[in-house]
Amino acid sequence: MACVFCGSDGKMSKEHLWPSWARATLLDTEKDMVVPHSIESSEAVSVREWDAPAFSATLKRVCLQCNNGWMSDLEHRAQPYATPLILGTPTTVDASAQRSLAIWAYLKCLLFVTVAGGQLADVYAVASKTFFEIQSHDLLPLHTSVFVAHHVGPRQGQYQCRLLGKPDRPVCFVQTFTIKQLTIQVVNNYLVRAPIEFERDPRLGNVDQRIWPTGADFDWPMENGLDDAGLTIYTGPQVHTAEESRRAQRTRKKLSPSARRNKRLATKRARRRGRRG
Ligand SMILES: [Zn+2]
Repeated sequence: MACVFCGSDGKMSKEHLWPSWARATLLDTEKDMVVPHSIESSEAVSVREWDAPAFSATLKRVCLQCNNGWMSDLEHRAQPYATPLILGTPTTVDASAQRSLAIWAYLKCLLFVTVAGGQLADVYAVASKTFFEIQSHDLLPLHTSVFVAHHVGPRQGQYQCRLLGKPDRPVCFVQTFTIKQLTIQVVNNYLVRAPIEFERDPRLGNVDQRIWPTGADFDWPMENGLDDAGLTIYTGPQVHTAEESRRAQRTRKKLSPSARRNKRLATKRARRRGRRG
């Protein structure tokens, strides 16, 4: 199997899906915990959910050279910035921290989708190759935005991917992962080749900061935290973009009764996840 990034069929290696140093931030009593993962697609209404032991999963789709070379450099550069955010240690997130965190988070999201397989992985195979070409310039694609939020709920971690549009014609990918107190959301906007403008759910208030494109310095932890219910809103079907809400209004009438039922079930499931906390 060829490396998803450079395409080489050289020796493959085991890449940590979650950073291996994230597991080191867990207390011994937390190491048996499982982290929920889910992938949802709003139009195809396909939901895939799985639990995995906290931050220990690996995958073998990356060659040794990529893993030990540029990927390891990105990890090492992000780790000192990410660790205080994960642990809730007061710090200032400046532009260089924002850049390192955003590029690292984007890489992690590419790997998560690789695990998902199927049509999503096909879309992301192209993204992985593009990323491989631009990462040495310290850049992300034009249509990418990355946000951080301060998670204050008891959940140790979570990964969620939400696809808007069809897998072969994506409108937007929203991927969110949480490691303890750090929630990062990577949004790829395929409608316009520009960073997205979100209309966040009004219940959330002002909970996040955009770190890509990088912006002004800000202090961590942020004033408003996201509890687990907030995290479900932040990642869930309630999260919408201006484009999506217009689309939803147009397509609502067209849904067949079974599609409407599936949609209701997906919402229920999301609510249950929120309650499970
Ligand atoms: Zn490679």
